[in-house]
Amino acid sequence: MASLREGNRKRVIDALRERGVASRAELARITGLSRSTVSTIVADLLESGLAGERDGQPEGEAHAGRPPVMVSLNSSAGLALGIDFGHRHLRVAVSDLSHTVLAETWRELDVDHSAEEGLEAVVEFVDEVLAEARVDRARVIGAGMGLPAPIDRMTGAVQASSILPGWVGVDAAAEASARLGLPVEVENDANLGALAELVWGAAVGKSEVAYIKASSGIGAGLISGGRLQHGVGGTAGEIGHTVIAEGGPVCRCGNRGCLETLASSRAIAELLSASRAEQISPRRMLELCAAGDAATLRLIGDAGRAIGIAVANLCNLLNPQCVVVGGDLSVAGEALLGPLREAVQRNAIPSAAEDLEIRAGVLGERAELLGALALVMQESDRFTTPEPIGAAA
Ligand SMILES: [Zn+2]
Repeated sequence: MASLREGNRKRVIDALRERGVASRAELARITGLSRSTVSTIVADLLESGLAGERDGQPEGEAHAGRPPVMVSLNSSAGLALGIDFGHRHLRVAVSDLSHTVLAETWRELDVDHSAEEGLEAVVEFVDEVLAEARVDRARVIGAGMGLPAPIDRMTGAVQASSILPGWVGVDAAAEASARLGLPVEVENDANLGALAELVWGAAVGKSEVAYIKASSGIGAGLISGGRLQHGVGGTAGEIGHTVIAEGGPVCRCGNRGCLETLASSRAIAELLSASRAEQISPRRMLELCAAGDAATLRLIGDAGRAIGIAVANLCNLLNPQCVVVGGDLSVAGEALLGPLREAVQRNAIPSAAEDLEIRAGVLGERAELLGALALVMQESDRFTTPEPIGAAA
């Protein structure tokens, strides 16, 4: 009996960690528990100081009468750290478990920094945000860390990546955990983008989602049943290496004609450079797009079509409710998404495409950082199990 009660209580706490705030009715719906069971558990959480109440309107519900009272976990219930490594930046934030970011910092990093230098910067930044938020380190339950590289799920090692060469072979979670004295969970950037859009962004309330990160590389984060899907070794979602043009350009993976060689922001910038007889960076390419440059728009449309073919194949296999497109290239908006949608409609079987929503991500360059925070909330089971530090990795 006690274990059933404990299990129900944990379901309510997990729902609050994932949702941030929710009404009692929403909690009943999310957990599948009865209204009266939820009310009893919430009363208990309020009494113990683990949760608090505020007035509010739950998402997607309009009430003529008094707005329902919303419940959230108190910040005393713990804090989460989010760490996001990009190719040339590091962002760190601390948030409470009701998803409020308390402090955040950002800095450029040397492109070819070593893992050692990167990890030292993390320790420094974590001290900085904790001091700025004036919170006690002992209240942090764990850290989520994003790296723009595939992570081997068995060994934890960062795998070969042209984007982060100084980190290959490093067990990033174990190294960061040892330096911070906290459990650390590591994910690749596309998976964190998916999680962030699910919790905070364009895919809130969905459970079957494909997130496409279209930047200097192309990757996907796949969510099924509200959970990230990794595959056996962590390779799930490598949509950038779907072959679109057999015999096309040679890819960094050793294959030919991969989506990434045709549709990444780097590939588009290179095509543009050749046509203009000047070196165009991906950033400059996006400026030309915003200025309405005809050749740039044409190339971005072609990229959208190529991504659409890969997404159509993905939809035939996974049948998601919603495809969210994020990454640098998504700022091109309809120039990218229009041709992408058309290609999906043309190439996917009708039943996989008819109710599918394809939309741009809404979190921009903070997606990975917010995803790293969401990772701590989602994986809170592991973080709150009283095990020695590092054992969770
Ligand atoms: Zn490839």
